[in-house]
Amino acid sequence: MKSRNHFHTIIIGGGPAGLACAALLAENGVDALVLERSSRIGRKVCAGGVTWSGLARHLPAELIEKSFTRQHIRSALQKTVISSENPIISTVNRENLGRWMAEKASQAGATIITNTQVRAVTEKEVYTTSSRFTYDFLVGADGSNSLVRRFLKIPTTLMGAGIQYQVPGNFAEMIWHLDPKQFATGYAWIFPHGNWASVGIYAKRADMPPGKLKEKLHLWMSKHGMKRKGLQAQAATINFDYRGYRFGNRFLAGDAAGLASGLTGEGIYPAVFSGETVARTIIDPALNDLKFLRLLKKHRRHSRLLDICGINNHLAGLILESLVGALRMKIIRFNALEMGE
Ligand SMILES: Cc1cc2nc3c(=O)[nH]c(=O)nc-3n(C[C@H](O)[C@H](O)[C@H](O)COP(=O)(O)OP(=O)(O)OC[C@H]3O[C@@H](n4cnc5c(N)ncnc54)[C@H](O)[C@@H]3O)c2cc1C
Repeated sequence: MKSRNHFHTIIIGGGPAGLACAALLAENGVDALVLERSSRIGRKVCAGGVTWSGLARHLPAELIEKSFTRQHIRSALQKTVISSENPIISTVNRENLGRWMAEKASQAGATIITNTQVRAVTEKEVYTTSSRFTYDFLVGADGSNSLVRRFLKIPTTLMGAGIQYQVPGNFAEMIWHLDPKQFATGYAWIFPHGNWASVGIYAKRADMPPGKLKEKLHLWMSKHGMKRKGLQAQAATINFDYRGYRFGNRFLAGDAAGLASGLTGEGIYPAVFSGETVARTIIDPALNDLKFLRLLKKHRRHSRLLDICGINNHLAGLILESLVGALRMKIIRFNALEMGE
């Protein structure tokens, strides 16, 4: 029975994973509480790229900043443009996405408390700076440095790092640049939004330390005539060390579960989808979600490719050039790089 400090399910983290989980639980009559440490939902270091096969086609048009039916892909030896009838990737403002998801969850009946950092969890309790809550089910949707994951004693070794600048201007093209000599197993990008673009770089942390990553991004931006004066670098980690999502009555979703793609860093769709999977599992513990299993299969495939590329730069060059060539010749679809279906 619900008392003031008891909730059937407590979700730590009001990112896409936590809010998706809360909305679905609440829609099914489950008493869910989201605890979010930030004062405003949705703020996150992120390029805001959502794929058509993943989330974009499910979002209302007003959330979409820009949509791209063409992807410009560059490597050391090739330049190609992949096109499709539907937008391949659209960009969203993470704060707007967060606000929209939070409204959906609240309207369904979930309780969301912002400005509340969870300091500790126990077998039955959650402690914030000022309160104590008890739960039947606990969901760690608290991002790549998850407190719940640490409480469950699940190690994290496979991490990516992303650095971006929000560069003002009206950018027309969405660009990916893969080149192991510059970015190891990662890539640099331009993801245009309304009147600015996320210009950034991503790589597996073990393949390129953050300091070097930043240096490479600066060089790349200079080469493209982009000025950084007055702009602030934004950096964050991306966890792709998936070791399960269900641990008795405790669950992990999104980055906390390590469900972002190690290859591309795409994590919004896996966060939303895994948040919903956690909700469905809480509602029906016997659930065997085939779509989630397919997501895990893609995740493993991305990690395996990343491992092979990580053997040495020469091999990475060979593989990434083959990948760009295969995309150019339409042997594989861009979708192979995406986490959606
Ligand atoms: C530079 C960069 C660019 C990226 N670009 C893309 C992209 O273009 N497309 C894409 O799909 N993915 C991208 N990602 C990855 C994507 O941002 C994440 O994978 C995604 O946000 C994960 O969602 P989540 O809900 O699991 O976690 P998060 O979005 O990190 O949300 C976790 C929430 O938990 C809260 N929290 C954490 N600890 C506590 C605590 N103790 N108490 C209370 N609240 C807590 C945080 O404040 C946060 O709101 C990018 C990442 C980076 C770093």
